[in-house]
Amino acid sequence: MTARVRQIGDPILRDVSVLIDVSEIPSKKIQALIERMQSILDGIQAISNQNGNALSAPQVGCLVRLIVLRIDGVFYPMINPTFEPVSDKKFDFEEECFSLYDQRATVSRYHEIDLTYLDENTVTKRMRLQGEESGLVQHEIDHLDGVLFIDHVQRDKLQTIDLVLGDNPVRLAQVKTMMAYMAEDI
Ligand SMILES: [Zn+2]
Repeated sequence: MTARVRQIGDPILRDVSVLIDVSEIPSKKIQALIERMQSILDGIQAISNQNGNALSAPQVGCLVRLIVLRIDGVFYPMINPTFEPVSDKKFDFEEECFSLYDQRATVSRYHEIDLTYLDENTVTKRMRLQGEESGLVQHEIDHLDGVLFIDHVQRDKLQTIDLVLGDNPVRLAQVKTMMAYMAEDI
């Protein structure tokens, strides 16, 4: 019995994920993993339609270099993703993470990146991303190296969700429902 989305304290979140061999991409193991990650993101979005847009494989217990992003409603499984910043320009990104969803902080991320990855059909893809999507990808690729967003944050800048949403009980209740879904033993 483990949580649907691994929660902070689980040592797997601090491990480094391995590259996926191109020949392995069509395998049932990888294709089923992609489906499971998409289904969890759909489960989160069913609770809150503004959430459920990004997840990494280690968060569901698989130490392989795979992330899934949802951009404009479309899923993009990204295998062995890497990025190069387009410039040194950074921006403040308000971050949250399904593995420690009761914590919030602002992280400085590259504003614009060139991303390279293999898709689920083994095709090499390149994408230029800016702003929120750029920040999301940097957060997810960090997971593949065992890094959590709180590692980039000074400890006095971390806030609990109860503090951030203290004046919004409706949203707070929704967040707690999402947290229960992520932490549920499956
Ligand atoms: Zn995360």
